Amino acid sequence: MTVISTTSPVAPSNVAPAPSKYAFATLAIHAGQEPDPHTGAVIPALSLSTTYKQSAVGVHQGFEYSRSGNPNRADFETAIAALEKANYALAFASGSATTATLVNMLPGGSHIVSVNDVYGGTYRYFTKVAPNSNVKATFVDLFDPTNLRNAMQDNTRMVWLETPTNPTLRLVDVRAIADIAHEFGAILVVDNTFLSPYFQNPLELGADIVVHSCTKYINGHSDVVLGVAAMRDAQIYDKLKFLQNSIGAIPAPFDCFMAHRGLKTLHLRMRQHETNALAVAEALEAASGLVENVIYPGLPSHPQYELAQRQQSGFGGMVTFRIRGDLATADRFLQNVKLFTLAESLGGVESLCELPAIMTHGAVSAEDRAVLGITDNLIRLSVGVEDTQDLVQDVLQALQAAVEANPSA
Ligand SMILES: *Cc1c(COP(=O)(O)O)cnc(C)c1O
Repeated sequence: MTVISTTSPVAPSNVAPAPSKYAFATLAIHAGQEPDPHTGAVIPALSLSTTYKQSAVGVHQGFEYSRSGNPNRADFETAIAALEKANYALAFASGSATTATLVNMLPGGSHIVSVNDVYGGTYRYFTKVAPNSNVKATFVDLFDPTNLRNAMQDNTRMVWLETPTNPTLRLVDVRAIADIAHEFGAILVVDNTFLSPYFQNPLELGADIVVHSCTKYINGHSDVVLGVAAMRDAQIYDKLKFLQNSIGAIPAPFDCFMAHRGLKTLHLRMRQHETNALAVAEALEAASGLVENVIYPGLPSHPQYELAQRQQSGFGGMVTFRIRGDLATADRFLQNVKLFTLAESLGGVESLCELPAIMTHGAVSAEDRAVLGITDNLIRLSVGVEDTQDLVQDVLQALQAAVEANPSA
C-alpha cells in the first residue's frame, strides 16, 4: 500500500506549496518528490493501478480512479506548478490534448484571438476542430500589442500566444497583451514551450494559464509526448480539472514518471542549450558571406533584444537563419550537417535541424508563409547540449559545403 501525502483528502497533491523560498534548481529536484514513506524509496514508484482502495465509502487517500488522479501525474503536476510559479498544474496526453481541453472551457459562440504564427497543430485545432463547437479564432500579428485591441470582439473569451514564435522567433510583450485581454474580460493563455519555465514565467507577466508541450524541453530527451497547463486561479483550475477528467486526455503514469525525471535536469540543460545556441548564432552571424541573416533573441541584432532581456531570464536553444541561396542550398546544408539530425520537433539534448517551409510549416499556404517570413532558405536549429565547439564547427563546415556548391554563388 502506498500512502500519498496530500494536504487534505479534497485537495489533490498537485497543489504547489505556497510561494517557495527555494530557487528553481532546488524545486526542480525536490518539488513533488517526497521519498515513499513506507519503503523509503527515494524515487516514488511507478503507480500503474487503475483504482484505489477506499477504507469506507468515499474515504480514500486522495486517489480513486487513475483517470481522475494518479500519483505519478500528481507529483509531476506539483513540480510544474512550483517551477511555473503557479498554484496548480494539470498534465495531459500531449501539448495538443492540452490545447483541446483548454478550448473546451469556452462556451459555444466564443471567440479566440491567437497570435498569427502560432504552432501549426494549434492553428489546425483552432481552424478545423474548434468551429465544430461553434468556437472561432482570428489570427493577429501581436508583435504590436495595439493590434489586439482592434481584434477583440464582445465574445472574445481567450487570447492565445507563443513567445518566441515558431520558427521566426518573434517576441510578444506578454504584460502588454495581458493588460488588454483583461480589460476586455478575456483570459490570456501563453504557450511557453520554447523557453521552458527556466527562462520565462508567463504567469508572473500577467498570463492566466501557461501551457507546455513537455514533449520538448521539459522532458528534454525526445522520448515522451506529454502536455501540461499551469495556473494560479482556483476557478480556472476547477474547470480544467473537471475537463481533464471528463475528456480524459490524460498521460500515462510512465510518461509522467519519465517527464518528471527529465524535468529534474531542466536548469542544467537549458543553460547549456543557451550557451550553445548563442555560440552557433554568433558563428552564423560572423559568416555573413554565407548567411543572409540570423534570428536569435540573445543577439543584439534581434529587433526585440530589449524585450527579450526584460521579459525572459535567458534566450533559449532555438536559432533560425536564412542561408544565402535557395531551397536547394538549404537542403544541401541540412544534408551536410553531421551532428544536427534532420528531423521535426525540438528541445531534446540532441541537436536537430529542419526546413520549416517544407517540414513543420508545409501545411501553411505559400501566401501565409510569405507574410510570416518563412522563406525557402529559412533553416531552424534546435541546438542541443553537445560540445559547443563541435556544434559550431559542424554548422560552419555544412555552410561552406552548401553555399560553395551553389551554382549561382
Ligand atoms: C510541439 C508543440 C506543441 C504540441 O505539442 P505535442 O506534445 O506535440 O502535442 C504545441 N506548442 C508548441 C510551441 C510546440 O512546439
